Amino acid sequence: MSNKIRQFRLAIQSSGRLREDSLEYMGSLGAEFGETAERRLIQSCQNFNLAIVSVRHSDIPRYVASGAADYGICGANVLTELNMTAKVVTALPFGFCKLVIAVPESSNMQTIADLEGERIATAYPGSLERWLQDQGIHAAIIPIRGSVEATVELNLADAICDLTQSGRTLKAHQLVPLATILESQAVLIQSPHASKPFFELIQSQLKYETVR
Ligand code: ATP
Repeated sequence: MSNKIRQFRLAIQSSGRLREDSLEYMGSLGAEFGETAERRLIQSCQNFNLAIVSVRHSDIPRYVASGAADYGICGANVLTELNMTAKVVTALPFGFCKLVIAVPESSNMQTIADLEGERIATAYPGSLERWLQDQGIHAAIIPIRGSVEATVELNLADAICDLTQSGRTLKAHQLVPLATILESQAVLIQSPHASKPFFELIQSQLKYETVR
């Protein structure tokens, strides 16, 4: 049996809104990753016993839950979407957004009750379904992977349920928010299989760095 110490693994988004902030956050803790443009799926940290695992954002909670990754950085919204709980080590100061239901500016829909019987397009069907159930509203959920804002204009849906930060994209599509389903920000999560708490790992690596 090998007695080599296994590298700890941190799952982050492979590309997209949270990637750069996640790398910057690790950098602020002292981790150095060298040339990240290489985009290898598993990339060793140069000065910590830690590897970055680059995966789809929505897969991060599963990597962490299974122990394939010891830690992960994802939006809290993805945990809600997957209906998964995770040990949150700390909330992070980026990835702020809201999951909202938005309707056309010209629409008669003004309250949550007006959504009854309507079609709502979303890339977040799990979160929407549970929210509709809680509200006692019966609406048709149209699952769409992206470009959800266009679905109303194309008459695929009557409303959308999507993430927004500033509201600019909604406005550009003549959509106005009707209700907020959840508020989200990035979180650092830890696997139940991780053999070291995240900050203990960081501390031990920093100590090792100064002794070396
Ligand atoms: P992937 O492409 O990795 O499968 P994705 O399509 O969810 O994932 P992004 O659009 O980059 O990728 O969004 C990742 C996360 O960024 C969101 O789930 C959310 O937590 C956060 N986020 C912050 N602001 C916004 C925003 N304005 N719109 C969408 N997501 C946002």
